[in-house]
Amino acid sequence: MSELTQASVTERLAGNVYEVDEGNSHIEVNQEIAQATGTGKLLVKVCPAHVYSEEPDGTIAVEYAACLECGTCLAVAAPGALTWHYPEGGMGIMFREG
Ligand code: SF4
Repeated sequence: MSELTQASVTERLAGNVYEVDEGNSHIEVNQEIAQATGTGKLLVKVCPAHVYSEEPDGTIAVEYAACLECGTCLAVAAPGALTWHYPEGGMGIMFREG
């Protein structure tokens, strides 16, 4: 009898392939609105890929190359705090199933 194992989230994500559009981020944070509305801290908390991080001066850094294109950040961002679109030209993440 074979034993089935369940892959961890990290193991599953490791199977994905990213085509990074170098120098052309598909995510932009409006720092003023993000800080004024608390959106910046929310982005850091909710993103499953840890795309967002808070710098010591309170600004939000964006590592767009790791984006899973899940849309969670769009659901929590205050109006005007975040500009997000799918990566252009077929770039971005390609999910592997299984
Ligand atoms: Fe993070 Fe998902 Fe937003 Fe990409 S779309 S930045 S993975 S929350």
